[in-house]
Amino acid sequence: MKKRDYFYALTLVVCSTVGSYFITGTSAQQAVPAHSYGYQIGAILYQQKAAEYRALAYQAFNIARWQLDADSKLLSKVTRRKPRAVIVDIDETVLDNSPANAHSAKNNLPFNIKDWYAWGDMRKAKAVPGAVDFLNYAVSKGVKVFFISNRDEIQKQATIDNLRAVGFKDVSTENVVLRQTEPTKEPRRQSVAAKYDIVLLMGDKLDDF
Ligand SMILES: [Mg+2]
Repeated sequence: MKKRDYFYALTLVVCSTVGSYFITGTSAQQAVPAHSYGYQIGAILYQQKAAEYRALAYQAFNIARWQLDADSKLLSKVTRRKPRAVIVDIDETVLDNSPANAHSAKNNLPFNIKDWYAWGDMRKAKAVPGAVDFLNYAVSKGVKVFFISNRDEIQKQATIDNLRAVGFKDVSTENVVLRQTEPTKEPRRQSVAAKYDIVLLMGDKLDDF
């Protein structure tokens, strides 16, 4: 498991700058003073404009591919007792919601669920660099992908449509697993683990792990 732990850490480093927006945005539901968006605007611009952000995202998914290939060599198909799976978070892990964040910052709006749902309904999020190639590669190797997200269940169809639109090949009501009543993702991860050998967890926040 040490190799896997190492990979989790790298993924977090890549996404920590962007994740800071959501950590702040979701924990501060109260009105946000105008000056509070200063550093968040920097984070949004970094996500949208910096070549280094794109390079780091590609790096994370390249390392994921190496790790998946290394796992492929560990056991033969005959020896494995369960099929393999990769679990990924959605927002800021495989979908880029920076346009919604930029809209909020530009208009000095605090995070609110109405705007978040409206953005999701637009199905306009683009893929994080490297995400489509990696997850479709995993699918090509017979690995099941589960998208475990704390988006709300009401957002499910729009989320599926958006994931398909950017090019993810295996997206269905079964493997897009959104939040219903439970506060954490762990019960959903455990239900996947009951049937699959989880090779990788990928995300931009600690509760993705
Ligand atoms: Mg996320």
